[in-house]
Amino acid sequence: MLKLHNTLTGKDEEFHPLEEGVVRFYTCGPTVYDYAHVGNFRTFVFQDLLRRYLKYLNYRVIHVMNITDVDDKTIHNAREQGMSLKDYTAKYTSAFLEDSKTLRIDPPDIMPRATEHIAEMVGLIKSLGEKGFSYQKDGSIYFSIARDPDYGKLSKADFSGAQSGARVDTDKYDKENARDFVLWKAKKEGEDFWETEIGPGRPGWHIECSAMSMKYLGETFDIHCGGVDLIFPHHENEIAQSESATGKPFVRYWVHPEFLIVEGEKMSKSLGNYFTLRDLLAKGHSPESIRYLLLSVHYRKQLNFTNDGLRQAQASIQRLEDFALRAKEKAGPGEPSASFAEEVNAARQRFIEAMDDDLNTSAALAAVFDFVRATYQKQNALSGGDARLASEFIEEIDGVLNILRPQPELLDEEIAAQIEARQAARKRKDFAEADRIRQWLASKGIQLEDTRDGVRWKRGS
Ligand SMILES: [Zn+2]
Repeated sequence: MLKLHNTLTGKDEEFHPLEEGVVRFYTCGPTVYDYAHVGNFRTFVFQDLLRRYLKYLNYRVIHVMNITDVDDKTIHNAREQGMSLKDYTAKYTSAFLEDSKTLRIDPPDIMPRATEHIAEMVGLIKSLGEKGFSYQKDGSIYFSIARDPDYGKLSKADFSGAQSGARVDTDKYDKENARDFVLWKAKKEGEDFWETEIGPGRPGWHIECSAMSMKYLGETFDIHCGGVDLIFPHHENEIAQSESATGKPFVRYWVHPEFLIVEGEKMSKSLGNYFTLRDLLAKGHSPESIRYLLLSVHYRKQLNFTNDGLRQAQASIQRLEDFALRAKEKAGPGEPSASFAEEVNAARQRFIEAMDDDLNTSAALAAVFDFVRATYQKQNALSGGDARLASEFIEEIDGVLNILRPQPELLDEEIAAQIEARQAARKRKDFAEADRIRQWLASKGIQLEDTRDGVRWKRGS
């Protein structure tokens, strides 16, 4: 049973989605004002891992990730570069998507852009006004935190003493400066704005995520994820706006990956240890080693991102690839031995238990490498069926981790061997094994057809 640490309750909780078998999952996407740095990508790689693991557990996942293409920073930088907001953010949106692909992060199912959802934001702000949670001042609209007795429940801070009517216009501020925050910013000279029924202006950052997540996932959904730096004020404000407007719980599980430090220090441009993904690739690091290092430490622990760590990550991947390749070469038809099948099951069980424990990736990887080591030691004693099972187990695990470099497609002889193994399984009435082989071949794009003259196969789905 999967357990996730829920920031809202401060506890590890068993995960049960609202609708059986379906997970509605929202992640705060990038603010596209610059290239994303490696700390940002720790969060995005973690989200990809969580999503893959949920799928591994047979959930259907509906993943929404927004693109923040209008906020203080995007407007500021676009102006500085003399570009339109649209052109400026288009450039960094495509850079982000390219980088994500490089790190083998699956694209979300739905990727709404803030500038395309102004009407939804205006609707939400209007409804907050009608319910008395907001007020206007000089053409801007503010959320009144004094009207929301729950305010502070995510960040575990008491804001009851906050001065009523004191306001903050910037999107980012700390707890000490908590004030009524801005939902709608009045039109300003030289800034992009929209003419709307609540007046000319542009949305605050926080309302963007409330409007887009609820549009695509409903008023209450399962998981909301973002870096720890978003707990306050961004996620606190998302809760305040959404729950005040709907009167319903907004999100059931809040999941927050920790920060990353570089060579023991906080990453900063002034220290010269600030890296975008592109910087790291230019230094010759492989995307897989970066991905591996980012996901190898439990997401709620601080990760020290170092050159040494990247080298070790590369060595670990190499070890796993060598193992997978040898197993594949040795793989043949025939039934795996019962004792080896049991070892694979035990390794799988350990992997699942670790991942179920709030995605404890370091323990999950230890389970995999213990299996690899033990299997290496007796590789000469392994039958073709054993090797096939080992190879498939590594592939299964990699469906979650996604760190092994893609292998060339199956050779005709390999397909023939699999079909032979499947026929043998059917003959001894082991239909589960026969099905498993068929599915495995299908996952490689090989379709089988049973005919009176035997089994035919073709490539392509
Ligand atoms: Zn957000």
